[in-house]
Amino acid sequence: MPRIIEPELCIACGACEYECPVACITHGPSYVIDANVCIDCGKCQKVCTSQAIFVLGKDIIPTIPS
Ligand code: SF4
Ligand code: SF4
Repeated sequence: MPRIIEPELCIACGACEYECPVACITHGPSYVIDANVCIDCGKCQKVCTSQAIFVLGKDIIPTIPS
């Protein structure tokens, strides 16, 4: 299952974008994973020191008050 990035937890370090083997992480105002391209390798999650990346449909994604 693809990963998603919770923007409220992301510190925009860029580590995940550098690590992704299929270049499906892009950034504008925030970092975003293209779920249609993600191959579910998990590499982005391993390098994210902010624990901002979650498995869609599996992990419980925290609700961050804005
Ligand atoms: S799980 Fe793998 S393919 Fe999907 S966004 Fe992360 S690094 Fe890229
Ligand atoms: S590695 Fe984590 S904190 Fe860094 S840009 Fe990616 S999602 Fe954001």
